[in-house]
Amino acid sequence: MAGPSHTIVAIAKKDLKPGDHIFAWRVIRAYSHHGIYVGDGQVIHFTTPQEALDEIAKEYPDSLIVDENPKSKPCERCGYIVGGSPGIGVMKTCIEHFAKTYHLYQYNVSWLEVLLRPRGTCCPYKSKPLEDAVKTAYAKLKTGFGKYNLLTNNCEHFATFCRTGRKFSGQVLPWRLPDLYKPEMVPIEELEKLAAGDNI
Ligand SMILES: [Zn+2]
Repeated sequence: MAGPSHTIVAIAKKDLKPGDHIFAWRVIRAYSHHGIYVGDGQVIHFTTPQEALDEIAKEYPDSLIVDENPKSKPCERCGYIVGGSPGIGVMKTCIEHFAKTYHLYQYNVSWLEVLLRPRGTCCPYKSKPLEDAVKTAYAKLKTGFGKYNLLTNNCEHFATFCRTGRKFSGQVLPWRLPDLYKPEMVPIEELEKLAAGDNI
């Protein structure tokens, strides 16, 4: 399922800058979780409710939803409770609860390249300055990001919205597009609509 030529390299916590958009694979290369790193080891992300995870598990019955082992006590730093998360919606948690391995999401990638790379790893739009992403993520932490929907309002929509002011999710785009080998053949308008979800 991975793109033919593009390698996704993990980034270390020490190399992250506030405003960076990171993602982690939750199901073997089929579904990725996204968030905005806001500094101090913390990530703001739009969490996936259990119903949506069940839906993914149905769609990929052979894959495993990776999660940490349940523990009863909330995290002393961020309050996160593994396996019994207190807040469905936008959360700020330690990066360790987000994922053990994570990668940098890419912006300003050509549409053709977006379609060639694994879905949910890059976006064709230009990013705003990183500090704007941090501001938007904190604003949404207060107001929320609407109701979660796998296709129209997911964690990738949240992170791309923070970075660009526009919702985009590559994960909802079709895997196969016929005869797509020239940039001018990419049906950009159609794909933009699909990727924008419910476009809050
Ligand atoms: Zn924590």
